[in-house]
Amino acid sequence: MTFRELSEYFYRLEQITSRLEMADILRDLLERAKAEEIDKVVYLTLGELMPAFRGVEFGVSEKLMMEALSKASGVKVKQVEALYKQKGDLGETAQGIISWQGRGLSLVRVYEELLDVARTRGTLDKVMKLINLLKGLSGFEAKYAVRVIIGRLRLGVGDATIIDALSLTMGDKELKPYIERAYNLCSDLGLVAKRLKEGGLDAIREFKIQVGYPIRMALAERVSSAEEIIQRLRRCAIEAKYDGFRLQVHKDGSKVEIYSRNLEPMTEMFPDVVKAVIGDIKAQSVILEGEALAVNEETGEFYPFQVTIQRKRKYSVEEYAKEYPLRLFVFDLLYLEGEDYTVKPYIERRRALEELLTHTNTLRASEMFITDSVKEVEAFFEDAITRGLEGIMAKRLDAPYTAGSRNFNWIKLKRSYRGSLADTIDVVIVGYYYGRGARAKLGIGGILVAVYEPSTDTFKTISKVGSGFTEEEWVRLKEMLDKIRLDHRHPRVDSLMDVDVWVEPRYVITVNADEITRSPLHTAGRTLEEPGYALRFPRAVSFIREDKNPEDANTVEEIIRLYQLQKRVSVE
Ligand code: AMP
Repeated sequence: MTFRELSEYFYRLEQITSRLEMADILRDLLERAKAEEIDKVVYLTLGELMPAFRGVEFGVSEKLMMEALSKASGVKVKQVEALYKQKGDLGETAQGIISWQGRGLSLVRVYEELLDVARTRGTLDKVMKLINLLKGLSGFEAKYAVRVIIGRLRLGVGDATIIDALSLTMGDKELKPYIERAYNLCSDLGLVAKRLKEGGLDAIREFKIQVGYPIRMALAERVSSAEEIIQRLRRCAIEAKYDGFRLQVHKDGSKVEIYSRNLEPMTEMFPDVVKAVIGDIKAQSVILEGEALAVNEETGEFYPFQVTIQRKRKYSVEEYAKEYPLRLFVFDLLYLEGEDYTVKPYIERRRALEELLTHTNTLRASEMFITDSVKEVEAFFEDAITRGLEGIMAKRLDAPYTAGSRNFNWIKLKRSYRGSLADTIDVVIVGYYYGRGARAKLGIGGILVAVYEPSTDTFKTISKVGSGFTEEEWVRLKEMLDKIRLDHRHPRVDSLMDVDVWVEPRYVITVNADEITRSPLHTAGRTLEEPGYALRFPRAVSFIREDKNPEDANTVEEIIRLYQLQKRVSVE
């Protein structure tokens, strides 16, 4: 396949917003790609070079891109800038500037050159490689290559659409669960597509966990009382719920990789965890999961989440690690010495986990006990809250680890305040308002937020949010949102409301609200006959959650459950 052919597919994808049509075009594309091409096709269609957990970034700013365009074409930087101002898109700017034919490069060749650009460190070398690449492309091809490089491809294709298209290539929708399972075990859609092409369905059925490929994390459902936990699970494990940073740790000999909840590489941020894993875990190959938390060594108290994630912004992680030593409260074992533990019942995984962890300062098994008594659960919950923990987690004793899904195998019970929802809600920002009065001077007065609907892979609006941020945060937020602004609503956003500026659905924030109400203005949970759901008195309780992807926002179904929970509580 040539890069031109791929670009033509991109062009077609760009023209449509119907997800069904998209999956059809993608199916055609994936069928045409050969085994050595298909992973690259998948990554590029998602606007990436590799799955996020590989941490490959281009490091090419718009300014650098314009410089390369100018040098490749001989057009002055000022003129490139003027054209960019006029078009508002660097891809189209490149197309407008490039008058040469291109060399008809293959997709694989362009992919390799792109990878080379990303891997090149020095700015000068990067520009040279960019010039070289641009010279080989026609204007039409450069439009897409440039958008990929600066991270603005935005075809509106998400992981779920690729999975649909892959199952269409097998001519059978029934196969989708197998493809999903393989994806949940490796988080790499390019790899799944490649295996499917090479080995057909058998290869996907036999798909195995590999150390170095993060497993999509299992998530918890919520309830509002200890009683409901015991009703649902009977005899179960109760663990402390730590409010820290979820980590998945992969060890292969002396090599350790750490991934965040949204599967970004975090190894460099946690040198102390790496050291402890190498020093204290005797097994050769293992995958563990736990919650990392800064702990005050003297008092044994936990620091708030904010202190834990400060590390991310600090340059000298090592020093910060000394000042705020971390503990990793390990709560699951997913893989051990070549064996897949995700399929084993919780109790077996836990037993093996406790054997694996010798008592060290950094790695600890999460606090856990087994009970079927509501009273004991309540007492542990109260105690956890007084110790500054977030609440408790209950786990079904005979349940496997359900990668990539949220269900009642794990149940959380968090402290709740009167007059507010039982839990906070994670929402995605889809647009913003300029604001009136005092806010007008900031240029942003509120945001429109949405929750996720997995069945259609879309974002449904649920509320406007206008409070909870400081003035400085509003300014920072506006800067970040302006970088992802769009001319019109994103194809994956379903909204009846208008905004002043639409943005790509990328950033997740956590909000609290007094209650969930029904409202005809929002699309979350709306059907032809029934109004949607909305938040009453919403306020942001976190700035952007860098550890969450848009698809990690709460789903419409969870909102409906919360709505029902709240009704039940108010009746009682
Ligand atoms: P939430 O983010 O409120 O949906 O709660 C689920 C999160 O709690 C998980 O993603 C973990 O990061 C965290 N967590 C804290 N303690 C535990 C535990 N003992 N078991 C599982 N998850 C835990």
